[in-house]
Amino acid sequence: MNICGTTQLTALLGHPAAHSISPLMHNEAFSILGLDYVYLAFDVLPSQLKTAVEGLKAIHIKGFNLTMPHKTAIIEYLDELTAASRLCGAVNTVINDNGRLIGHTTDGTGYMRSVSYAGFQVTGKTMTILGAGGAATAICTQAALDGMKEIHIFKRNNTTFSKTEEFARNLTRHTKCNVQVFDLADTGQLKHSLSESVLLTNATNIGMEPDIHESLITDTSFFHPDLIVSDIIYHPGETRLLKLAKEAGCPTMNGLYMLLFQGAAAFEYWTGREMPIEPIRQKYFDP
Ligand code: NAP
Repeated sequence: MNICGTTQLTALLGHPAAHSISPLMHNEAFSILGLDYVYLAFDVLPSQLKTAVEGLKAIHIKGFNLTMPHKTAIIEYLDELTAASRLCGAVNTVINDNGRLIGHTTDGTGYMRSVSYAGFQVTGKTMTILGAGGAATAICTQAALDGMKEIHIFKRNNTTFSKTEEFARNLTRHTKCNVQVFDLADTGQLKHSLSESVLLTNATNIGMEPDIHESLITDTSFFHPDLIVSDIIYHPGETRLLKLAKEAGCPTMNGLYMLLFQGAAAFEYWTGREMPIEPIRQKYFDP
């Protein structure tokens, strides 16, 4: 890669940001396609987000990604949101269209593409999702837009429960999908929802550090062989939930391909070119 006077800048803003695999993935893809772009990761404090965005706009950045904790906070600095970003209330990709900042979310498309890439067909069926944070709402939104028939969201009955209920009502109103929210403590309902589901998605932090030995479901009688059990966590590559599901005979999948495909979608927005998935997958995403 030769950085020169015409090189276009793309970036990640997060706090922290240094651990991200995104710079490797994007720079490799730019290099393979011979594109005059570079991707850098910047650690931006929440209190500095506005200043950082103004600076990036002033230097005509092509686009940038947001990771925790900026996915919601970024919205007030943008000029426009896609329908999916508006529905889920989160942005992880920004395009700079001649000074107009447009917010997209690629977490949901990344997840749905990873499910079909793994060979699973889930359109028109029922899914159960654990958690209702930024990634979960993006996944629910895209799944509903892609034609999922029913989505059952299970989350803790805390101060954000009613906000999730409002999100579910709104998504049901704007799509053909029936989205319902249940208390995670209602294990009877969870077992029933799973019996009707073809896909279970863990979109909580439970299973990653420091909760590496935890799983929100430990009773394997909740699983059935036709249930695809997926975890959007990718480190560790096999969470306790996936291990238990595999032992119960379920097909399983971790969050690595979601990471790959959410990046590929952002890459296409910025460059107008398809990311060369296979060499990137082989180099950075296969264990
Ligand atoms: P977030 O917005 O903070 O949401 C976290 C969710 O986890 C919330 O719904 C929260 O519940 C739930 N949760 C946390 N602790 C819990 C507990 N002890 N019991 C039950 N639920 C609990 O985070 P996020 O951005 O959605 O990220 C969630 C996970 O997805 C992280 O592990 C992240 O690394 C991963 N992720 C992966 C990808 C990928 O490309 N593979 C992309 C994005 C995120 P409440 O709603 O009750 O607070």
